[in-house]
Amino acid sequence: MGTHNLYCGISGLSEEIEAPSLSDETLIVIGAGASGAATLIEIASCSRESGHRRFKKIILIERTTQLGRGLAFGKAEAPYLQLNMRTSEISITGKEGDFTDWLVKRGIGSAHDFADHYAARALCGNYISDRVAEAVDGLEAFGTEVQIIRGEAVALWLLPNCRYLVHLLDESMLVGDRVILATGHSRSKTCDHLRQYPGFLESPYDPKFAATIRPELPSLIVGSSLTAIDSAKAILSLGGGNQICLVSRGGILPAVRRFSTHLHRSFPRHLHALKDRDSLSILEVLAALDRDVREIHEDPLPLQHLFPVPTYRTRTDGVRRFQEDLRRVHAGKAGYQNVLEELDGDLLEEIWTRLLPDDKRYLLRYSSHYRALRHPMPPATAKQIENAISQNQIHVKRLRAREGITYDPRRGEFIAAVDGGTVTAPQLVGATSTSDDLETSDNPLLQQALRTHQIERHPLGGIDVDRATCRVVVDRKINDRLFALGPMTSGVFFYVSAMSECVRHARKVVTFLMQKCELSCE
Ligand SMILES: Cc1cc2nc3c(=O)[nH]c(=O)nc-3n(C[C@H](O)[C@H](O)[C@H](O)COP(=O)(O)OP(=O)(O)OC[C@H]3O[C@@H](n4cnc5c(N)ncnc54)[C@H](O)[C@@H]3O)c2cc1C
Repeated sequence: MGTHNLYCGISGLSEEIEAPSLSDETLIVIGAGASGAATLIEIASCSRESGHRRFKKIILIERTTQLGRGLAFGKAEAPYLQLNMRTSEISITGKEGDFTDWLVKRGIGSAHDFADHYAARALCGNYISDRVAEAVDGLEAFGTEVQIIRGEAVALWLLPNCRYLVHLLDESMLVGDRVILATGHSRSKTCDHLRQYPGFLESPYDPKFAATIRPELPSLIVGSSLTAIDSAKAILSLGGGNQICLVSRGGILPAVRRFSTHLHRSFPRHLHALKDRDSLSILEVLAALDRDVREIHEDPLPLQHLFPVPTYRTRTDGVRRFQEDLRRVHAGKAGYQNVLEELDGDLLEEIWTRLLPDDKRYLLRYSSHYRALRHPMPPATAKQIENAISQNQIHVKRLRAREGITYDPRRGEFIAAVDGGTVTAPQLVGATSTSDDLETSDNPLLQQALRTHQIERHPLGGIDVDRATCRVVVDRKINDRLFALGPMTSGVFFYVSAMSECVRHARKVVTFLMQKCELSCE
């Protein structure tokens, strides 16, 4: 047992109790998507480096049968279920090129083959689950017991002895010293009023999608981000293409990813300089971004037309912008992507933290514009979509927000009110992005934790956490024993929707825990 004292885990509480050393503790991780997986992998790596066990026991709870996959890297196989990120950029361990190394080791190809390669989602899921299995072996080799439980956590209670009790849906209970909430995405509510009607389909990542969609019929796709593009790609791949209409508030399509041969590593020095400032406006950030882009590229993409900053409010034609973007990528003129990639992680977090509150809200309102740039589609997908657009198979329309989308039961059709008229179709795909609204979250565990005041809504969305360590913050008090990772921390970090961010945030938690471990070993 360690000898130092804890204040019941929550800074500010006065009851002093004897704390066990971290290596005698049980850690409970709820959710085994990329964030839960990255946490386990990171702890295993710390054990390996230090040569001794870090926890007595780790319990990983996952409500599905799929470890390390989540929504994004599911087991289903279909030609359209392909990542939108290059294989060479994917790593669940934080080690550059780790996915490529994994593929090469299994004789799936040579590193050269993966420079401009976009792997199947299921294959990426296999890679993550494999790395989780290795981490479990590594942890057990150092004496940490790992228990993987298939079940849904529905409630969380802090016991008087400062341990946590986690209640599962099957009424079983687990006790641990610290809990990490890595529960991932909540479903967007945008299409909830349409779910009950025949012809409604969840996203193309739903295993039932291929069997349910009728590709020969017209389809409405709600959204125009990567999920909507994947939905359109799915319908085309299944032999459809008789009128696919993407409808969204902004009507903008994702950018097109540059080829790896057009990669310039650059240091975005104007953006870095912003870290010295106390507060920032969006215009200052865009100006710095523009200067950094111009330094590496003679013909930068006019960012001001892509991002609707107040002074440049123009109504962008989504399709025209997409077609111009595709031409630029083929001409090697997408230098802005190099800068945006360098902006990821710590730098973006620093800038986000310094933005003026109103500008943060503005940026969140238009975050789909940022995501459209930051999450481009592979060039081959873009070519397929452009062909379908030029053959009048795919249309992109801006939704008239007030009327939205309704269903006519007599005609069995969904009706979308769009600029210039209405679009109707007998089937509709809900391809809207996920939600970070805690109050309307469809996750019973988060609802219970919110109701019982164990987590708090961040004013800008998701769960409030301490930026440095991802510890949960309630009433301005930081809880040393409860952590939150992943998409539900968007208010604190803004950009949370990439595997690289899951790994970075898992590292924050583990670094904090390891410092605690060192303290308790002193
Ligand atoms: C459709 C889609 C495609 C994406 N594509 C990419 C991509 O190509 N590249 C990329 O870098 N990023 C991609 N992302 C972003 C990606 O989601 C994140 O990188 C990452 O997968 C988030 O991981 P997570 O573990 O935080 O959440 P999730 O992946 O959502 O995992 C959360 C896990 O927790 C489980 N869970 C939730 N609640 C409970 C509970 N109460 N009890 C037990 N288990 C629970 C869920 O079943 C799930 O397995 C994509 C995201 C989506 C939604």
